[in-house]
Amino acid sequence: MTTKSAEPAKPGIEWGPTIAAACDGCRTCIDFCHNDVFGWADDTAFVAHKTDCVASCSHCATLREAGAISFPTTEDLRRARRGG
Ligand code: SF4
Repeated sequence: MTTKSAEPAKPGIEWGPTIAAACDGCRTCIDFCHNDVFGWADDTAFVAHKTDCVASCSHCATLREAGAISFPTTEDLRRARRGG
């Protein structure tokens, strides 16, 4: 089942996951995310639909080694709201 949201999480703030070099290609994020945010190519996960990520979800980041999946920090979001 695929559920997609048409709207970005918050206009002006680029919310969504980033996959780091620490990713070992376990596919956990792909199996977990019901919004199909992640894609798979060449034995590697990638962020395919960043704007479909649910604002403040970040559950996928807790499934793997620290640092494999990260999200904007509170300070990043504050900076974006201030315009840079
Ligand atoms: S934070 Fe939630 S909605 Fe966003 S990619 Fe991770 S599991 Fe999917």
